[in-house]
Amino acid sequence: MPSHFVLTPQIRNAIQSSGITPDAILVQPGELEDYSRDSSDLVFQPDMVVRAKKVRDIQLLLQIANQYHFPVVPRGAGSGLAGGCLADRGGVVLCTTALNRIRKIDTQNLIMEVEAGVVSIKVRDAAAEKGLFYPPDPAGMDQSTIGGNAATDAGGPACVKYGTTRDYILGLEAVLPDGSLIRTGVATRKGVVGYDLTNLLVGSEGTLGIITALTLKLLPSPPAKSGCLVVFPNMSLAMNAVTSVMGQGYLPSAIEFMDHKCLSLVGDMLPFPLPEAGASLLIIEMDGPEDQVATDIQGVAMVTHELGATRFIPVPDAQEREKIWEVRRQVSLRIHDHAPVYLSEDIVVPLTAIAELVNVLPAYEETYGIEIFAFGHAGDGNIHLNITAPDRLHLDRVNEGVKALLELTLQLGGTISGEHGIGIAKRAFIDLELSRESLALQKGIKRLFDPNNILNPGKIFIE
Ligand SMILES: Cc1cc2nc3c(=O)[nH]c(=O)nc-3n(C[C@H](O)[C@H](O)[C@H](O)COP(=O)(O)OP(=O)(O)OC[C@H]3O[C@@H](n4cnc5c(N)ncnc54)[C@H](O)[C@@H]3O)c2cc1C
Repeated sequence: MPSHFVLTPQIRNAIQSSGITPDAILVQPGELEDYSRDSSDLVFQPDMVVRAKKVRDIQLLLQIANQYHFPVVPRGAGSGLAGGCLADRGGVVLCTTALNRIRKIDTQNLIMEVEAGVVSIKVRDAAAEKGLFYPPDPAGMDQSTIGGNAATDAGGPACVKYGTTRDYILGLEAVLPDGSLIRTGVATRKGVVGYDLTNLLVGSEGTLGIITALTLKLLPSPPAKSGCLVVFPNMSLAMNAVTSVMGQGYLPSAIEFMDHKCLSLVGDMLPFPLPEAGASLLIIEMDGPEDQVATDIQGVAMVTHELGATRFIPVPDAQEREKIWEVRRQVSLRIHDHAPVYLSEDIVVPLTAIAELVNVLPAYEETYGIEIFAFGHAGDGNIHLNITAPDRLHLDRVNEGVKALLELTLQLGGTISGEHGIGIAKRAFIDLELSRESLALQKGIKRLFDPNNILNPGKIFIE
């Protein structure tokens, strides 16, 4: 396949006369523009978009792609941060947002069947309406699709207690690159028959199959929830508190942190005066039976006080907690507005290494001419390093800085991406983490699924 594929008139005719729902096919420049971006800084306009109205549309498109060998790039809502849904080699973007039915909520067996294009928050809300709980809560869930969450194994603040999207997928339906439709997994709480194809497709960033539907596991809703804000004079004390809280047997349903730079950006929204330079904030939530939650919050107050917290603000009220999450969401938007160059890294390190990593960031800022804003999921070591630079003139140096930070992450025993995936944005760095043998095996799996390399080619790996 050439590095940039151009759809010939013959291929366009083949697609248009294939039986794909006619109004699913978009070719006008204005329409294509809408599918040329995600939430990274990357831009690539596709030659055509198919916004599938039914699974058969996807099957037909992939059959033609195999005949003519052009790229097909799966896309949900385009909220991804790694360029995974962008047609950087041309070809057709296949969008799933019109496959958006909630097929079934089974309140007795605690499962839900949804099509891939359902907006993620609607999955949570639909479960809640039945008194049930779908825990994954990626911060972009009011935009993203559940299929996109599955393809990237999205996580969020609740991960520390409840795990990632993967942990709630019992089975799925997907169109393979040859156009065939498979069902994987089970609709029961357990099942170990054969290789685990469900978990191979989950997190595969649209390179092995197009997910069209999912069978999700639900939980009973926790009866109560409460939270608190805790300010520490420095990051090391805040991180000691995270390990101590969890070490003493408390399991928060969220435990997030923000460094002082992030706090400065949202100072006008904070329910307390901006703390002194160097200070860090923890946002902690607990869920469970009401008495237990109240006891746990008191316990956290004691532990954090003993560890040097300068301020403890209980936030029992749900609306007040929602305001805090809005502050947390605003941080990345304000960082984005603050600088012309913005790269979002989502590394993970062991809990005991978070403070060490954050404390060396000033040295990296000085060496590479960058400014780094750190916030993230303290409870699972997933740190969002938002790397900014004042202009695009020294992008090479910025990228060297990114590479150095990823190397440091690996030296500390971490991983270069906890939830955003590799896509285009991080594919140059994948061999920092994976061995030659592991990469060869993974490329072999890709060839087995997709011998003509038509499905999202060049994502995750550079061939
Ligand atoms: C404000 C904001 C906050 C965010 N917070 C979080 C967060 O807390 N945690 C987190 O994990 N992410 C977060 N993200 C990133 C993003 O929301 C997730 O990666 C999300 O899972 C992407 O879903 P999507 O439907 O937008 O997928 P897209 O961006 O359209 O695609 C993402 C990848 O999935 C593939 N894909 C999409 N749909 C399918 C399908 N049906 N079958 C096969 N492959 C498919 C694409 O090819 C691409 O590789 C955030 C993004 C924003 C903008």
